[in-house]
Amino acid sequence: MSDRIFNFSAGPATLPEEVLRDAQEALWNLHGTGIGVMEHSHRGGPFKAVAEQTEAACRELAGIPDDYALLFLQGGASTQFFQLPAHWLADDATADYLITGSWSVKAAKEARLYGTVHEAASSKDRDFSVIPRTDEIHYSDAPTYVHFTSNNTIFGTQWQEEPNTPGEAWLACDASSDIFSRPVDITRYGVLYAGAQKNIGPSGVTLVIVRRDLLETRVRDLPTMLRYATHAEQGSLYNTPPTFGIYMMGRVFAWIAGRGGLAGMERLNREKGQILYNALETQGFYTCTAGEGSRSLMNVTFRTPSPELDAAFVKQAEAAGLSGLKGHRSVGGMRASIYNAFPKQGCEALASFLRDFAAKQG
Ligand SMILES: *Cc1c(COP(=O)(O)O)cnc(C)c1O
Repeated sequence: MSDRIFNFSAGPATLPEEVLRDAQEALWNLHGTGIGVMEHSHRGGPFKAVAEQTEAACRELAGIPDDYALLFLQGGASTQFFQLPAHWLADDATADYLITGSWSVKAAKEARLYGTVHEAASSKDRDFSVIPRTDEIHYSDAPTYVHFTSNNTIFGTQWQEEPNTPGEAWLACDASSDIFSRPVDITRYGVLYAGAQKNIGPSGVTLVIVRRDLLETRVRDLPTMLRYATHAEQGSLYNTPPTFGIYMMGRVFAWIAGRGGLAGMERLNREKGQILYNALETQGFYTCTAGEGSRSLMNVTFRTPSPELDAAFVKQAEAAGLSGLKGHRSVGGMRASIYNAFPKQGCEALASFLRDFAAKQG
């Protein structure tokens, strides 16, 4: 513990220390098999047990019913940006996208390769500092699905609840940066996906949760690897899956379960967020870049009065063992990413640094 520092990186991000310790052992010798977890065949019993445990832990944690398939895929959330519309958005159909930041812009761009994209709402005119209100969302007549980004990693905003969907449209969600940070009613979704590397594991594995009836409704022919059904039918073992990532996700799910599950995570994440937002607000020195009511509990974005002070802040914080606070290169300022595994003590340390830094500038 003592040789680790507080890592506010936006992703890949801090993992639970208990999980890392378990993984050290498993890399060497998985469950007494004499073979490390990265060395086991994905077809063998020991790895199959790992994959089954990860899936069972995920279902238990988030209350995912059997009519949803869980897939462990590769290519990151960015691959879902095109795989999803390739699968479900017909040439003559429309999908509605809620545009709340860079990731939703990228998702919509890929969807345009396949069909019509209707931007049902966008907060671009407000520099993505807010989540659109319900009365600002204007859906098209009969969209196939509605896509949203539950947490905007770069701009530090987060949907406080799911948007409503019109008619027959199902909900598609990129939950890469807040998955399992709070309870989720999966039955509201058709598809929910997330790269693991922020809240639930290492990079290299993408969790995709799909309502099973949708697996039958592919609108065009696709290569075998791009069909969700291929992976659903084979338990994500059609080809070699990201075995280590699947192992790690299972350990992270168990770690969350041991901390009160998703409700426990939400409580803890609220406490952590409050510590930082309180420290930022009482100073009269910092500006929170996200609007009240839209603020993320995962990525806390803020600025000092000038870019020069921002740079000094990041540098001095780094020297104080608070790493990774520089904002995304596209927006500047600072960003503290405090996903599930990021410890509360780290938020307290940053809050105290925030007060000291502001006091020093007078
Ligand atoms: C990080 C991130 C992505 C990109 O994920 P990759 O796994 O790198 O493709 C997509 N969406 C959101 C919301 C993210 O935070």
